[in-house]
Amino acid sequence: MFGTTLPLGRIAGIRIRAHWSVVIVLAMLAWVLGSSVLPASVPGYSSLAYGLASLLFAVCFLGGLLAHELTHSFIARRFGLEVDGITLWALGGVAQLKGEPPSPKADLLVAAGGPAMSALIGGACLGASYLFDDGSTPLLLIAGLAWLGVTNLFLAGFNLLPGTPLDGGRVLRSAVWRATGNRAKAVAVAARCGQVLGVLLIAAGIAELVFWRQTTGLWLAVIGLFLISSARSELNAERARGRLVTILVRTVMDSRPTLAPGWWPIDAFLQQLGPNPRRRVFCVMSEQNQLIGLTSLAELNGLAGTGGGGLRIADVCRDAPRQVGPDEPLLQALSGISLRPGLDLLAVLDDDRLIGVVDADDLVRS
Ligand SMILES: [Zn+2]
Repeated sequence: MFGTTLPLGRIAGIRIRAHWSVVIVLAMLAWVLGSSVLPASVPGYSSLAYGLASLLFAVCFLGGLLAHELTHSFIARRFGLEVDGITLWALGGVAQLKGEPPSPKADLLVAAGGPAMSALIGGACLGASYLFDDGSTPLLLIAGLAWLGVTNLFLAGFNLLPGTPLDGGRVLRSAVWRATGNRAKAVAVAARCGQVLGVLLIAAGIAELVFWRQTTGLWLAVIGLFLISSARSELNAERARGRLVTILVRTVMDSRPTLAPGWWPIDAFLQQLGPNPRRRVFCVMSEQNQLIGLTSLAELNGLAGTGGGGLRIADVCRDAPRQVGPDEPLLQALSGISLRPGLDLLAVLDDDRLIGVVDADDLVRS
């Protein structure tokens, strides 16, 4: 979903990244704070003071956003879900979870955790702004705390609107899932609500733009469009999931995979593959024809390009890929992992014998 992102580090092992568009949000928030919110509520400071305070509070706001996503992530981890990382971008933050919550209860808690954290931060900031308003604390600080409080409470409320992909949509999904026992139906209901919500936001945004001449209407409309497209892709993903349940590994596997002999030097294998190989990911085999690892054209080309062409493939390959049976449902075979195009594959084994592979290209073809 995101192109170039800037790594910001790790918190409790979770990778934090920022998409370039987050700079726009930071600039917009700082601009609104510095040019109208702060001067209007606490007049009399210098432009420099407003500027610095605005930047500080805008960064604090992003910190609150990060705390919101971290809460989703930590709760998801408690339910055994892997967290790929958190990306901050123009429309907020996204915690990238691998797999789906295992039960309606898990779904509810993962979803509700984020808004609960935002509400907590909002309440704490508002509380602090009252507590410190004793004449000795700079008014600029108090105004900023109050703004942080209100925006975080707004964030909690907005995220609880009941439609995919907002947290409220997931809360709705968990409720329908619990009531009907049918997850696919719950996903569909929440996604439909997300699309309706998207249309309403676009209408509200246009009305704001046309009748009140407020450019923030444009922002609402963009968020509306985002909701509609996310809800649609979630619906499509669920339909694809539904199909995967009935498809067996056997029907999509490539039964003539290209195998990489582990004892060969990289150069010799690349030469044998030729300029346009049929496959991009390879099972690495031992001389006894046992599966010992996994490698890809990209990795081998990379090594050959940096002078490693003489190395044995077995010495540079990754661990053996996940092994599945030919009659396993594809959905089960793929659960909890993602097959990155050109990098990963599933090895299909029958009685310890490799009879095929499934990679991302095979899934697209099916
Ligand atoms: Zn959230």
